[in-house]
Order: sequence, then structure tokens, then C-alpha cells
Amino acid sequence: MADVVLVLNAGSSSIKFSAFDGGHADLPLILRGQVEGLYTSPKSIAKNDAGTEIESKTWSDAGFGHEEAIAYLVALLRSQRGDHRLVAVGHRIVHGGMHFSRATLIDSRVMAALQKLTPLAPLHQPHNLKAVDIVTKIRPDLPQVACFDTAFHRTQAEVAQAFALPASITDQGVRRYGFHGLSYEYIASVLPDFDRKAAEGRTVVAHLGNGSSMCAMVNGRSAASTMGFTAVDGLPMGTRCGNLDPGVILYLLNELKMDAKAIENLVYKQSGLLGVSGLSSDMRSLLGSTDARAAFAIDLFAYRIGRELGSLAAASGGIDAFVFTAGIGENSPDIRQRACEHARWLGITLDADANRSGGPRISSPSSSVSVWAIPTNEELMIARHTRNLLAAA
Ligand code: AMP
Repeated sequence: MADVVLVLNAGSSSIKFSAFDGGHADLPLILRGQVEGLYTSPKSIAKNDAGTEIESKTWSDAGFGHEEAIAYLVALLRSQRGDHRLVAVGHRIVHGGMHFSRATLIDSRVMAALQKLTPLAPLHQPHNLKAVDIVTKIRPDLPQVACFDTAFHRTQAEVAQAFALPASITDQGVRRYGFHGLSYEYIASVLPDFDRKAAEGRTVVAHLGNGSSMCAMVNGRSAASTMGFTAVDGLPMGTRCGNLDPGVILYLLNELKMDAKAIENLVYKQSGLLGVSGLSSDMRSLLGSTDARAAFAIDLFAYRIGRELGSLAAASGGIDAFVFTAGIGENSPDIRQRACEHARWLGITLDADANRSGGPRISSPSSSVSVWAIPTNEELMIARHTRNLLAAA
């Protein structure tokens, strides 16, 4: 009987899941999928390791929520792999605050500490923790591990984590945390397979997906990142605005009389590619559009990547390698090329054919910085942490 590690990423209306075979050193994927539309029109899809659909379901009961979805997942695993034994659950937890600088086995003390961080990530943390509570309820014996989006960035120098605010505010945890840490950690773990200089030198990684950020790594450790106190900072994203003059928020409050909820909705859900284009948050749709607003949204996205690249290169005293990852970064030669056009001053040039075919190395031989397109795998990173903590327990 083989041991299964289940990885959960629970949001407000969806749960993404992956199951890995914990009996093998390289943790092969068994199945993955998601349950979405919780509390409205729930449906699920599960695929095997080859990406072939193995089950899809819809539920007519709008009361079908997180609890029902997790019960369904446990039953699905049992029905698909009766010869497997669920040994642990790894959770993606958005916020580990200052205290949690590595993945952690969850107990009631850890849960209490994580609950206290909810005000720092009110849109994500409660749903992440709800999944832990539900698993505890249905399988109290099962070890659960919290894997944080913030933990990887705790190696940053104090100045990289600080805001220029009075201590009375910063002492309350108002500082730059950085996110997408599991993705960066995964990339750092595979870089030695690609290039020694990229693994050990000064490398900027651009995680470009629905959520986007960039991270400067030195010798595989985070030195600086574009995301700060929340995951709305930095690059423009699908629907998030990214970096914004705080004076804009004051103007929205005082002059346009918007309240906090309306501003939250604006900066998280109505801005970024969607807000600028007025068309879509989806990069593929924008690239396929002939509308001038789509072109402008793409130009702004590429320009901002270029600016942040300069800033991050300065933060680590130079740059040896530049890595693209996540949905847009892995799949769009067009965006990679546009972003790199803004980096010509750094001596970055691409090999057009390699970029079109997806690399992994996409820079030209004469480029002074090597450029890469490398798939990320946050779920596998969570499974690794979970298995490692289990082995150490
Ligand atoms: P993620 O959040 O990592 O799943 O990334 C989602 C984003 O990747 C969406 O904006 C997609 O439109 C974008 N994306 C996926 N495939 C492609 C592609 N072939 N070309 C451009 N964008 C893509």
C-alpha cells in the first residue's frame, strides 16, 4: 500500500487539490483538479497524472461548500486509489507573518497563531484555515502541514522588508512580506538542473500569472520582491492594480467618497489587465484582441516588468539570470519578448527561435544575462515540505 500526500489550496469559492505518491522520492503526481463554484453552482474536475479527465461532477445543492468538497475529495481518493493510504495533507497558507519562516506541522497553537494573521490577508487566510479545520474534524489523526507564500522571503535584509513608516505602525506588523514564495522556492530548487550561475548567482524570477510578482534571489534565497504587505503590490495583475501611490487611495476616499469596501473591490478585482483594457483579465484574450485598449494593457504590463527588473537588479547588485514562470511567463513568447525589450540596457537579448519554442534557455549566446522559461510547481513544493516534515516528526 502506497502513501498519498494530499495538497489543498482552499479559496473562498474553490479548492484546488493534488495528490502525490509519497512512497517515491520524487513524489509522482497521482491526480489533480479543483472543486469550484462552492455555495453557488458547485462542480469539480479531476485529472490523472497525464492530464486526462478521470471524473467531473456537478451538485445542485447550493449549500455544498468547503466541508462537502473536502469530504468528496477524500472519497474520490479512496475510489480512485483504494490501494493508497492518505498519510498527510499539505495546505497552501497565504500568510505566515514574521514568525513562520518555514513550513510547519499544524497543531492547535499554530492554528491560533495563524488565525491572528487573518487581518493581514482577509481575502485568503480564513479560507485556507477553514480547510485545515475541516480536515481536523473528519480525520483528526491526519498530520497537516502549513506551507506559506510568505516564508521564502524571510531571508530578505531588514531594509528590503521595511516601509518608511513610524515604528508605532511597523511594530504592528506593517511591513513587506512578499508572496508567491512557494513558486520561487520551487524555481530555486530546480535552477541547479539548468544552470549553475543562475542557481548560485543573482537571479530575478518573474512569476507571471493571474497573480504576478517578481523576486530577486541571490544564491537561491530571496533578496527582494515586488509584493509587499499584501498581494496587491508590485506588478499589475489580472485584476489587481499593483504598485499605487498611497495618495491615490486618499483621493478615492476623500474626494471621490469611495468607502473601504469599494476601494478594496477596485484595487483587487477591477484593476490590472481587466481595468486597463476594459475587456478581460486573461492575457490570452488580450493577446488575441485587436482592440487598442488591449494593446495598451499589454504595453503597461511589459513596461512594469521592465521597471521592476531594473529595481530588483539594483537590489541585488546586478543580475546574472532572468527566469519567467507561471501561466503567462511559461507560455507567452510574446510577453517574454516584450518584457526583455525593456531590459536591453542590461545587455539582455533573446534567441527568437528558442523563445518561440519555449526554451528552457531563451537568451541568445551573446546575451550578458541568461534568460529562461521554467515551469513552476507550487503544489509539488507543498508536497515536498509535507513529506519532509512527516519524515522528521
Ligand atoms: P496562472 O495564474 O499561472 O494559471 O496564469 C493564468 C494566466 O496565464 C492567464 O492570464 C492566461 O491567459 C495566461 N496564459 C496561459 N497560457 C497562455 C498563453 N499560451 N499565452 C499567453 N497567456 C497565457
